[in-house]
Amino acid sequence: MTSASVITVPAFADAESQVRHFFGTRRHAMDLGLEVGVPRRGIAGTASSSWTLSVKQVHGTEALVVDRALAPTDRFLGGWDALVTDQPGIMVAVRTADCVPILMYDPKRRVVAAVHAGWRGAVAGIIPKTLALLESRFGSRPEQVRISIGPSAGVCCYEVDEPVLDRLCQGFSDWNKVVSPRGDGKAHLDLKALVKAQAQALGTAPKSITTVNLCTICHEDLFFSYRRERKVNDTMVSAIGLPMGRG
Ligand SMILES: [Zn+2]
Repeated sequence: MTSASVITVPAFADAESQVRHFFGTRRHAMDLGLEVGVPRRGIAGTASSSWTLSVKQVHGTEALVVDRALAPTDRFLGGWDALVTDQPGIMVAVRTADCVPILMYDPKRRVVAAVHAGWRGAVAGIIPKTLALLESRFGSRPEQVRISIGPSAGVCCYEVDEPVLDRLCQGFSDWNKVVSPRGDGKAHLDLKALVKAQAQALGTAPKSITTVNLCTICHEDLFFSYRRERKVNDTMVSAIGLPMGRG
């Protein structure tokens, strides 16, 4: 596996941050052996002693909080689109093709989150809900949370129709800032900008939010894309976790 098979961001990669993370590409996704709802030890790209957990995603807004150590027999059989943990040695992972993978990290409270957001989850408020959960459960003020928005369908390619636009208008007051109308009832939606605007509305500082400006539909060499391939062939895996052996 080459280092180019995953994408990392400087916001999480500095020596002080003490957090592991990656946004996967299609080269990385092969042979990870990740089973939905089943913790897996030592998958590629992580420490051999660490767990990686990914669960069934349902385009909702519920979060699974992992606040204890994992065991090989653990099974997480519900559906969640956000995974949160304060446990060192657990990488929380989401799988995406065109939806947005979002990684969150609070260096003060030592808690991380991985979020899967398509337009449904974003409009339903999975970003503000997850930030609110981080605050209520772990004392993470939104302004101290670092957020990275990963590769997803870009505004260049992500066409949506009226039913989606109607829901967006109802659920997000600044909808016109994230939509480029095309004039035929359709429009291009900037999902990454929507996620960023929602995080900022909750108080996360613009400088604490990084965006990987790559479109999964444009970059066939790097990413799987449901829209481009017209089916789910495979998904990219993106994850974040606190390393073991600190404090
Ligand atoms: Zn594109």
